[in-house]
Amino acid sequence: MSLSGKTAIVTGASAGIGEATARRLAGAGATVMLVARREDRLKALAAEIGGGTQVLALDLSETEAPQALLDAATEQLGKVDILINNAGILRTSHFADFDLAELEPMIALNYSAVVRSSILFARHMKANDSGQIINLSSIGAGLTAATSGVYGGLKAALERFTDVLRIELAGSGVRVGIIAPGTTGTEIFDDMKSRGEPGWDEFTPPMQPDDIARAIQFMCEQEGNANAARMHIYSTSEGF
Ligand code: NDP
Repeated sequence: MSLSGKTAIVTGASAGIGEATARRLAGAGATVMLVARREDRLKALAAEIGGGTQVLALDLSETEAPQALLDAATEQLGKVDILINNAGILRTSHFADFDLAELEPMIALNYSAVVRSSILFARHMKANDSGQIINLSSIGAGLTAATSGVYGGLKAALERFTDVLRIELAGSGVRVGIIAPGTTGTEIFDDMKSRGEPGWDEFTPPMQPDDIARAIQFMCEQEGNANAARMHIYSTSEGF
């Protein structure tokens, strides 16, 4: 039980990569707090995992949510050892069709919430001389492709912020890292499909959420002075 005695928060734990990550970290011995909006799903997962798993229903796109998360986590878990900032949404469109009403919600969840949470938990962890923050990017952060400008641009900005946070925390005992998945079969492509577009996971045999969760677990299990700070996980069929 490599993470025995550790506490971990996983945002976006009601589905996909977050759900798989929560299972893995709990399986490795961590006490996990599950965060997302769909409380019914979180409760069902917590019941399945057992072992003191906590549930927090929260809309992370609200400005005050990261502080509420820190308050709830320190009350229910005490010291927080691991934060996985995973919750995210994907809205893609050519500029001609881009629904501008989608812009602020994507900035709020995929960028602002992660930055706010990272800063608040970095202070908490630095005060404890230990901790780990992993932010979910995407291989899309490094791809310049039509329809992905907003999503990929936000992930690229998140990577820059996350790298700087890692540098600012050097020597503090707090690890900071980025994991950038390739195409993984999850609900994130449902929005595309609901608009009659083919999901990106239909172009290529996708990875499964547990493929990414396994890599996150690996990052969390580093010991001593090692920080696996950046991992790209591609599907073997991805050609870019
Ligand atoms: P899913 O759509 O499967 O899951 C997204 C999760 O985020 C859900 O648990 C959802 O829960 C939660 N969420 C969405 N909106 C909010 C909100 N406002 N407040 C709190 N939680 C929210 O996505 P994936 O598992 O595919 O994606 C996880 C991360 O991985 C994202 O950051 C994504 O950008 C990244 N990624 C995914 C790739 C893929 O191919 N799947 C590739 C590269 C990166 P609920 O609706 O209950 O709130």
